[in-house]
Amino acid sequence: SSLMCSHDLKEPLRTIKSYIGLLDGKYKNQLDEAGQECLHFIQDGANRMTEMIEDIQALSSMGGHSISKRPTDMEKLMEEVLRSLQAKITSTNAIITRESLPMIAVDARQFRHLLQNLIENAIKYAGDKTPQLHLAWEKKDGQWVFRLSDNGIGIPPAFQETIFEMFHRLHGIGEISGSGIGLSICKKIIENHQGRIWVESEGVDQGSTFVFTLPIVNGHQPSLPPLHQVDLPAASK
Ligand code: ADP
Repeated sequence: SSLMCSHDLKEPLRTIKSYIGLLDGKYKNQLDEAGQECLHFIQDGANRMTEMIEDIQALSSMGGHSISKRPTDMEKLMEEVLRSLQAKITSTNAIITRESLPMIAVDARQFRHLLQNLIENAIKYAGDKTPQLHLAWEKKDGQWVFRLSDNGIGIPPAFQETIFEMFHRLHGIGEISGSGIGLSICKKIIENHQGRIWVESEGVDQGSTFVFTLPIVNGHQPSLPPLHQVDLPAASK
């Protein structure tokens, strides 16, 4: 299977990495400055290759056939995602807010991956600012509509569709690392759920909002938890 294949791809990479480690540890002092720089580039390339293979593995494990939709507490799922990103959130001082999330029938594993990917990107492409993210949702025209907005570097209109294609990256190698596969995985996951995903951004430095929809399946939805657990001001009564 394709999974097996990408597993095999990691084998030679492990060899490369362990010998780089050896060179770096034992022979570094015998290398002049140019030699050490070469070593650094090899190391960097090997790390990027590892990241790509892992992303390709993730993509091939997101097949639509293996999807298993169960009523899922999105609130709990989000908490899990934030916990797994805790180190990144702390080191960047990212502020992440959200409306209290509903219960929806989704494939929890795939959705965890989706949310994690989008949030990681929003933190990664924050530019010089402290990342600020907000996840909102509504029910509209028979769809759940989720909107994850950030205050980051934004995406020019001309690239708002192509970034969802495999290997398409806007921000070049060396600048910010990545494989350009993350958003294709997100698109696949949403398509597995019969939804749509797109991005809205006014352009450079204007932040981005990733929007994704899921059809509301009539009769199969479990009852919702209280909509907004956010306290309303007393005056609004
Ligand atoms: P990667 O992050 O590995 O490059 P992705 O497929 O996740 O790959 O994203 C593709 C490209 O879309 C990124 O290289 C980046 O240019 C752009 N992008 C993704 N998320 C954001 C975001 N929140 N803000 C600005 N640009 C983004």
